Amino acid sequence: MRTVAFPDGRTVPALGQGTWHMGEVRANRRAEAEALRRGLDLGMTLIDTAEMYADGGAEEVVAEALAGRRDDAFVVSKVLPQNAGRTRLPAACARSLRRLRTDRIDLYLLHWRGSVPLEETVAAMTALLRAGHVRAWGVSNLDVADLTALAALAGGGACATDQVLYNPQARGIEFDLLAWCALRGMPVMAYSPVGQGGRLLRDRALAAVARRHGVTPAQVALAWALRHPGVIAIPKSSDLAHVQENAAAAALTLDADDLATIDRAFPPPAHRQPLAML
Ligand code: NAP
Repeated sequence: MRTVAFPDGRTVPALGQGTWHMGEVRANRRAEAEALRRGLDLGMTLIDTAEMYADGGAEEVVAEALAGRRDDAFVVSKVLPQNAGRTRLPAACARSLRRLRTDRIDLYLLHWRGSVPLEETVAAMTALLRAGHVRAWGVSNLDVADLTALAALAGGGACATDQVLYNPQARGIEFDLLAWCALRGMPVMAYSPVGQGGRLLRDRALAAVARRHGVTPAQVALAWALRHPGVIAIPKSSDLAHVQENAAAAALTLDADDLATIDRAFPPPAHRQPLAML
C-alpha cells in the first residue's frame, strides 16, 4: 500500500481506519475489534480514535483489537479542547494510554481549537513528547489562519498533521489548506472520506465511475481522496466486507475522465471557504 511520511520521517499507509461510534454498544465491541484486526491484516495499520468517542469506549475497542499486536499499529488519538491545557492534557493523555492499554500514542491530536491558548497546548504536547508518552502531536479541524498562528509559536513547527473533513461533498481544503500543508511536508488526514456512508455513496457520478472500474462508490470516494500524495484517509467500518472493500481501494487509480465526472457533480472550490467540520 502507498505510504505517507510525517515530518519526523515515520511513514504510515495512506489508508487507515477510523473508530467513531465504536465502543458505544458493549455487545458490538468484539465485532468492532475484529473489524479493526481485519483492517490491520489488510495493511490499514493506522487506527484513529479519540477520548471523545463513546467516552473512551472506542479507545478500549482499539486496545482489544491490538491485544498482543500493539507494534502492528500506528495509533492516533485526540484530546478534547477543554482538556488541552497545561495540567489537564497530561491527565487526559494518561487516561487514554490506560484505556488503550499501551505506553505510547503514536500521534496525539488536539480535536479542535477551544478556549485554551494554542501556546499552552503546544507546550503541554511538547512535554508529552519529551516524556515519550506520545511520539508526535498534531491538530484537527484547524483552518489555515489557525495553522499559521500555530506555526509561528515556539515549538509549533513540530505539528505533524491536520485532520480535517475531506470527501467530494466537502472539498474546500483544495483551495488553500492542502497546499499550505504540502508546502510544509505535513500530511493531511481526511476524515469522513466515504461521507459517513450516507448520500455520497448513492450519488450518480460516483456510481458511474464505480461501474467503469467494477468497484463500489465507497472505493471511488477513497481513491479520490488518495489521489493527493500527502493525504491519509481514515474510513471507519465495523463490517468485515466493507473493511475488505476499503482496503482494496488503495489499488484503485482514477483517470482524468473519472475525475472530470466527479468534478461536474461536486465542483472544486473557486474561492476560499471556511473549513467545514462535523
Ligand atoms: P466515514 O468513514 O466516511 O463513514 C463511516 C460510515 O460509512 C459507517 O457508517 C460505515 O458503516 C460506512 N462505511 C464504511 N465503509 C463503507 C463501505 N465500503 N461501503 C458502505 N458503507 C461504508 O465517516 P466517519 O466515521 O465520520 O470518519 C472516519 C473517521 O474519521 C472516524 O471514524 C474518526 O476516526 C475520524 N473523524 C474525525 C473527526 C474529527 O473531528 N477529527 C470527525 C469525524 C470523523 P459500517 O461500519 O457498517 O461499514
